[in-house]
Amino acid sequence: MRATVYSGRNSVQVENVPDPKILNRRDAIVKITSTAICGSDLHLYDGYVPEVKKGDIFGHEFMGEVVEVGPDVGNLAVGDRVVVPFPIACGNCTSCRNGLWSACENSNPNANMAEKVWGHSSCGIFGYSHLTGGYAGGQAEYARVPFADVGPLKVDDDLTDEQVLFLTDVFPTGYMGAELCDIQGGDIVAVWGAGPVGLFAVASAYLLGAEQVICIDRFEYRLAKAREAGAVTLNYEQVDIVDALREMTGGRGPDACIDAVGMEAHHPTTAIHAYDRVKQATRQETERPHALREAIMTVRNGGIVSVVGVYGGLMDKFPMGSVVNRSLTIKAGQCHVHKYLKPLLEHIRSGDIDPTWIISHTLPLDEAPHGYEIFKHKQEECTKVVLKP
Ligand SMILES: [Zn+2]
Ligand SMILES: [Zn+2]
Repeated sequence: MRATVYSGRNSVQVENVPDPKILNRRDAIVKITSTAICGSDLHLYDGYVPEVKKGDIFGHEFMGEVVEVGPDVGNLAVGDRVVVPFPIACGNCTSCRNGLWSACENSNPNANMAEKVWGHSSCGIFGYSHLTGGYAGGQAEYARVPFADVGPLKVDDDLTDEQVLFLTDVFPTGYMGAELCDIQGGDIVAVWGAGPVGLFAVASAYLLGAEQVICIDRFEYRLAKAREAGAVTLNYEQVDIVDALREMTGGRGPDACIDAVGMEAHHPTTAIHAYDRVKQATRQETERPHALREAIMTVRNGGIVSVVGVYGGLMDKFPMGSVVNRSLTIKAGQCHVHKYLKPLLEHIRSGDIDPTWIISHTLPLDEAPHGYEIFKHKQEECTKVVLKP
C-alpha cells in the first residue's frame, strides 16, 4: 500500500510499504477514505518529539471502510463505515472504565519508554512515535486498528467524510478544551491558537454557553476563521495580549483561558522567546511555553487554565507563583475522544456546527509532502489539509 512515512527532519515521503495484517483477535483493518494532517504531526515532522524513526507511518486522524475484522470484534462488520479515535484504548482498564481513554493503561507496548519521560505511560496513539507505541498511522491506504471493538464509531452515509473526519481528534480536542473551563453563563473565554484545535475550542465554548470568546494568533487568515466562529480576535504581533485582555475584561482577566498552541509557541518580540528557542534547540527544554505562560498570567483570580496543546516533556520559567497566589486551576489532557464521539456526532447531525469550515486543502495522498510543507509554513492560507488515499 501507499503510506506517508517519516524520512528525516522536516521530510516525509509517500512510499510503498507492506499492507497491515490482523495481529490480534480484537483488531480490524480499515481501508482509508479520508485522513488529515494535524498540528501535532508537525511536532513529529520538526523532530521535536523523541523516538520518531525513519520509515514510521504518520497520521492519527483517519476514517474509512472496515475490510477485515478479528474474531473478537463483534460490533463491526466488513463494509461498515467508521471514524477512528486517535487514542488507542482497551476499554477494560481502570482509566478506560473511568472515561480517561487517552490514559489507557494497556495500549502502549512501549510503556517503559514513556514512564521514563512522564512517570507513568499514556495510551498508545496511531502514528505518533515509539513513545506512544510505535503504531503505524493512518495517512495511508489501510490501517490496523487495535481494540476495534472499543474505538471506531460507525457513521451513516448521509454525512460526508469531511463532516465527520474531525471527530477523530481536533473537534473533540477543542471541545474538551472548552469543557474543562466549566463555562458558566456570562463567561469570557480566551483561546490561544487559531489552528484547528483552537478554532474548535472557540466554537465549542459558544456551544457550552460562553458569553464571549477571544482568540489569539498572528496569522490574519486563521483569525478570520475564528471570527467566522464568532470570536473576537487579537493579533499578538499587533497588540500586547496582557494589556488587551485586561482592557476587554474590566481589568479582571478572562474567566478561563485555553492553550491550544502547545510546545512550539512563537513570540518574536520578546527576550523570553529567544531564551526558549535557544534552550529548545540545544535540547535543554522540550517546550517553548509562551502561550501557556501568558494564559496563566492573564486569567482572572480563581480562573481556569485549560491545556490541550501538545507538550512533550520539560519547560522552564513556569509561573507557579501566579497559580498558587491567585488560586488558579490548571486542567489538561490528551483528549478522551471515545466519550465525545456520539454527543459531537449529534451536534454535527443537528447542524449546531459544520466542521468542514476549517478545511483549506484537499489533496491526493501522494501530495502529503506538499501538505506538510504548506501547513507547517502557513502557506496558501492553509488551515487544515485533508488527504484522499
Ligand atoms: Zn490530531
Ligand atoms: Zn484501557
